[in-house]
Amino acid sequence: MDVLEILRNESQKCIRCGFCVYVCPSWNAHGKLEYYSPRARVTLIRSMLEENFNINDAIDSLFTCNTCMRCLAECPTGINVADLIIYARHYSLQKINKE
Ligand code: SF4
Ligand code: SF4
Repeated sequence: MDVLEILRNESQKCIRCGFCVYVCPSWNAHGKLEYYSPRARVTLIRSMLEENFNINDAIDSLFTCNTCMRCLAECPTGINVADLIIYARHYSLQKINKE
């Protein structure tokens, strides 16, 4: 499976339940803003695969995750958000460098 496929398949598993949000230290440290939650990060990852998405809109959210994996234990669909974010960081930097 290539990176794009992993990003697409995993991000589509999110049912937006929000169980992951309250355990996220990054969300807590950023005034409990949705943009810094695991749920938002997964949504941004799904959006950044679309053609017209401005990748810069996802950068701060992606790079403020500390990859602690606390959200994984809460996720009913088993999304490893930390792993996904690491892939998404590589993907976003590649896209920015090509622009
Ligand atoms: S891995 Fe990232 S998104 Fe998940 S709880 Fe930790 S800081 Fe939050
Ligand atoms: S717990 Fe999992 S399915 Fe629910 S919002 Fe978070 S990432 Fe999505």
